[in-house]
Amino acid sequence: MATNSDKILAVFDFDDTLIDCDSDAWIVKLCPGGHDVPDWIWEKHRERRYMEFFEHLLQFLHDNGVTPMDILDFMASVPYTEGMEAALKFIGKNSDKFDCMIVSGANVMFIEATLKAHNVEHAVNKIYSNHGRVDDEGRMHVWAYHKHQCTICTVDICKGALLSEYVKEQAQKGVTYTKVVYVGDGVNDLCPSKGLGPFDVVMPRKGYKLIEKIEELTPENKLKADVIPWEQGSEVLAILEGLL
Ligand SMILES: [Mg+2]
Ligand SMILES: [Zn+2]
Repeated sequence: MATNSDKILAVFDFDDTLIDCDSDAWIVKLCPGGHDVPDWIWEKHRERRYMEFFEHLLQFLHDNGVTPMDILDFMASVPYTEGMEAALKFIGKNSDKFDCMIVSGANVMFIEATLKAHNVEHAVNKIYSNHGRVDDEGRMHVWAYHKHQCTICTVDICKGALLSEYVKEQAQKGVTYTKVVYVGDGVNDLCPSKGLGPFDVVMPRKGYKLIEKIEELTPENKLKADVIPWEQGSEVLAILEGLL
């Protein structure tokens, strides 16, 4: 039987989901002279070692006179995917029914900068992402959230482990979720999607990797959750509205 503490958990990926681009590609635009990041730094990106890539990129920006303030201001100007700001505002307005979590392979500083810029930080209960800080010399650093064994996720963060950790933590506080709605686009969003049950919903973005990965699953590995593809955030909002 549903109790007052039963809620719906809306989970969002960040890159190419909440924001309509990849934060790596966005920040690279700050490089003096355009896209002239040295190839050895890009090599880390190709290897999906994103935190190593970023740490070197941040040093490169620092050496070229780009400050953490420049980076965060520029990050704050990143475009949200159409309808996503409205979806977060809807969740914020209905916080008695919804909790909201962001789980992302970007980093907490970037995510918080955009949430503040869109005035939606109050709508998000929990951000799981890589760590970031600015040191005494005014250089920004990022580092991996944790070590893990997952082979689907990137080396820095296992999204599935963190989603289950949050659900468990909340249960200990007496909050249980009748449904999880997971919105994402990338390969690493498959990991948390696999852990969801028949009452949950996975929303993969059309034209991106997650939907391909879901379609490639063999019948015995099919997701238990409902799969509802989306193109724009307004479709995500419509699904959330329909759950009230
Ligand atoms: Mg993504
Ligand atoms: Zn994982």
